[in-house]
Amino acid sequence: MVQALNGKTALVTGSTSGIGLGIALGLAKQGANIIMNGFGDHLGAKAQIENLGVKVLYHGADMSKSQEIEDLFAYCDHQHAPVDILVNNAGIQYVANVEEFPVERWDAIIAINLSSAFHTSRLALPHMKKQNWGRIINIASAHGLVASAQKAAYVAAKHGIVGLTKVTALENATSGITCNAICPGWVLTPLVQKQLDDKAKALGISNEKATELLLGEKEPSMQFTTPEEIGELAVFLCSKPANNVRGVAWAMDGGWTAQ
Ligand code: NAD
Repeated sequence: MVQALNGKTALVTGSTSGIGLGIALGLAKQGANIIMNGFGDHLGAKAQIENLGVKVLYHGADMSKSQEIEDLFAYCDHQHAPVDILVNNAGIQYVANVEEFPVERWDAIIAINLSSAFHTSRLALPHMKKQNWGRIINIASAHGLVASAQKAAYVAAKHGIVGLTKVTALENATSGITCNAICPGWVLTPLVQKQLDDKAKALGISNEKATELLLGEKEPSMQFTTPEEIGELAVFLCSKPANNVRGVAWAMDGGWTAQ
């Protein structure tokens, strides 16, 4: 099989779990070497990616801290693994009304879900410009296009990252560097499992019923998007035919934002 991304290096932030891991696996299947990042035990996920025959590095930078992001890029340089493909995926969630939203949670969500993508992009672009090729994929959300109550910081950060995506795409529009956003609806990862568990507990209902309510409220297809499907879209955005896809916020949300 021809592996379209042979010889490329992809940094996927927050790739120890969920969507980030799905994307890392998708890119690795196409031959890309992977720089993993994220919290928790990374060894199982690392072995899973390595099984695909690519080189995998790991750096545990906290994406809320610009100095640690700079350390991550210094580590990539030191390992002779400059970033050709940047996937800004690390993210967290917190749910509360605006007047009750803990200031510290607001700051953390803006730092991790939005500002980190500015820092990684500014650090990745010089190498991409030098070789006149690069791919930046920002994992936004349906919440980058529309809002839900009680998600002020998340919705603000995701709308912000859609804006950052457009600016980055425009600044590099005549080059071989593209920047696009993927906007998933519900994906069954630890981040959403927690919201499901909270819903089931609050309403005193089963997990199955809570899933039905969660999907029914927003997602006409009544199905979760999978990390593997998002990985395949990321592979497409890295491909040659996607060369002129620039600055889009690509919904993958079962019809959520079509309503
Ligand atoms: P997840 O909780 O499974 O994974 C989040 C990843 O980010 C983990 O690897 C975690 O360790 C990492 N992370 C968290 N804080 C970090 C920090 N400070 N520094 C470095 N890494 C950190 O969540 P997920 O559902 O896979 O979410 C991934 C991305 O997809 C997020 O940006 C999220 O907003 C977005 N998203 C998720 C859904 C969904 O339904 N799950 C929908 C739309 C968008």
